Amino acid sequence: MPGLEDLYREIILDHYRSPRNRGELPTPPAVHAQGHNPLCGDEITVYLQIDGDTITDVKVGGQGCSISQSSASMMSQAVKGKKVDDVKAVVRKFKSMMSIDDEDPTPIPEVKLGDLEALQGVVKFPVRIKCAVLAWNTLTEALAEAQ
Ligand code: ZN
Repeated sequence: MPGLEDLYREIILDHYRSPRNRGELPTPPAVHAQGHNPLCGDEITVYLQIDGDTITDVKVGGQGCSISQSSASMMSQAVKGKKVDDVKAVVRKFKSMMSIDDEDPTPIPEVKLGDLEALQGVVKFPVRIKCAVLAWNTLTEALAEAQ
């Protein structure tokens, strides 16, 4: 019986080897943002197609370590087809799992993270937390770009 840590490692490796939603979207109408983690050399570009209050398409480009790229792949799956407000709730929940205080006094929303829970082990390695949240910070920048 594989343990939970093996399962989490499998999920991370699967997203690293077969990244979901890779590519670009034409801007405009899509918006995009670029993120860089100089500590590790990770680069992420996030493209969002937003129609009304819904993210109808998402593409991710970039390169870097397995944590940064698998996190970006999981992020793309978690936001595609979702409402912007629901996506912001997932961002808060994910960052709280990574022990990042966003200084927002309202309670952390109760949302399910699914595959994203595979990244919770990263919190034990503070240097890698920046790898895991890079895609999420870049997503937040792209959302700001859209407003
Ligand atoms: Zn990294």
